[in-house]
Amino acid sequence: MDWEQLKSSASACTVCPLHATRKQAVLGVGDIEAEWLFVGEGPGAEEDERGEPFVGQAGKLLDNMLAAIKLKRGKNVYIANIVKCRPPGNRTPAPDEVQACEPYLERQIALIRPRLIVALGKVAAQNLLGVEATLASLRGRVHRYRDTPLIVTYHPAYLLRNLIDKAKSWEDLCFAVATMAGLKQEGALKQPPPAPI
Ligand code: URA
Repeated sequence: MDWEQLKSSASACTVCPLHATRKQAVLGVGDIEAEWLFVGEGPGAEEDERGEPFVGQAGKLLDNMLAAIKLKRGKNVYIANIVKCRPPGNRTPAPDEVQACEPYLERQIALIRPRLIVALGKVAAQNLLGVEATLASLRGRVHRYRDTPLIVTYHPAYLLRNLIDKAKSWEDLCFAVATMAGLKQEGALKQPPPAPI
């Protein structure tokens, strides 16, 4: 599936019960050739209304977090969620809903081929990594989603309720920036040497 097909398929999707209560599917937003992919949990009320991920209060904080590391929504950044349709009352998506939605994110990742994935919060981290571990235990290390390096940090909505952990999320973002720099350097080294003059 290409991007057009992915978008129309998600819009018409009825595989899980979330389709019955959504206003619209929220596939993702941003640069489809981005080096950075941020993955949250699922659309909330405002996202369901507007068709774009992270546009509510948590989204404003995410934009600030991006700005703090000199990134901008849509510019070398793509933002997606584990589930594309809003769970009613913003509840955590159920395992069967996550499973039903997995092919969409999988395809998005295959098309974007980001250098680094940042999982925002426990739901994104646990589902991308297929583990039940706590968020705290997953922070500060480079994991892998398939072949793509993945770093875990707090969900912006959690940070809005737990200001004290903002300092830790800053540490994670700095770690992500350093990891990206390393990945780029590795990538650079893998380029063929310039042709002799
Ligand atoms: N929370 C998420 O996880 N994703 C959104 O798109 C909005 C809020």
